[in-house]
Amino acid sequence: MSKLKIALYWAASCGGCEIAVLDIKEKILDVAAACDILFWPVALDFKYKDVEAMPDKHIDVCFFNGAIRTSENEHMAKLMRQKSKILIAYGSCANEGCIPGLANLYSRQSLLDRVYSETPSTDNPNGTRPQLKVKVPEGELTLPEFYDRVKTLAQTVDVDYFVPGCPPVADKTWAALEAIVTGNLPPKGSVVGAGDKTCCDECDRKREEKKIKKFYRFWEIIPEEEKCLLEQGIICAGPATRSGCGTVCVNKGKMPCRGCYGPPPGVIDQGAKLLSALGSIVDSNDPDEIQKIVGEIVDPAGYLYRFGLVNSLLGQARTK
Ligand code: SF4
Ligand code: SF4
Repeated sequence: MSKLKIALYWAASCGGCEIAVLDIKEKILDVAAACDILFWPVALDFKYKDVEAMPDKHIDVCFFNGAIRTSENEHMAKLMRQKSKILIAYGSCANEGCIPGLANLYSRQSLLDRVYSETPSTDNPNGTRPQLKVKVPEGELTLPEFYDRVKTLAQTVDVDYFVPGCPPVADKTWAALEAIVTGNLPPKGSVVGAGDKTCCDECDRKREEKKIKKFYRFWEIIPEEEKCLLEQGIICAGPATRSGCGTVCVNKGKMPCRGCYGPPPGVIDQGAKLLSALGSIVDSNDPDEIQKIVGEIVDPAGYLYRFGLVNSLLGQARTK
């Protein structure tokens, strides 16, 4: 049997997904035995022109991580789609926009103003901004266009499978690779390497009655070890998050779930789902007291939509 031809690409993301692939540890040797890696810019010296020269659908599977923020990201998404039989949105940025997607709360102009003029450490008296083309003695330099909005991979090209997580946990990455290598893939459009319940359904912490008078940031209190974090007033995105990670943060890390596996099946808007869960535990019927309790949530957009803003119903809204 000929080896599976795979590619890995990194668009608008932090790079953690690339490291997550290496987290499968010695199993990477099994991958190397079963697959030929045709393109992986972070690890091997391939050029875009190498991919452009390939026949269409030459690559069997492409793991594409990162959101689509620039014209370069978009070009590569279209190119990898054209050259790959199976395109996988790998990790939260490709699936839902993730942290880069929070930039959709702001316009392109306000982001550029902030970065190139307004931060306390910026020294830019002439208001210089990046240009798409700049002439220098050696010729013309070009930069990719910085788009007005962040998109997911599926909002840009047709995607075959979705592997969620920030980053996807190692055993689920391995499960996805194994399914590909053995030809045991589910129907097109499926989420691979995740469950179909919520993080709460897999959590070991004890749940009783959720009624709270105050929301705490995680560092403000020392939580009880065994008790549900939400019942202690710590915002945990478990009720609004797809299962499958093994509750690594909540049970192994003793931290609240941040929601990186995205919404569970049937939930369109992860932030609205979490908001509804938070609203249901506030222990008051007095509007002023309710206002005070929820008013203590710092950065509600960041808490509720840390991963899923681009894919959410709120996704087209903008504050500045
Ligand atoms: S809210 Fe968080 S801590 Fe509580 S059961 Fe759900 S995942 Fe566990
Ligand atoms: S517990 Fe939540 S934030 Fe942590 S890995 Fe799982 S889904 Fe992501």
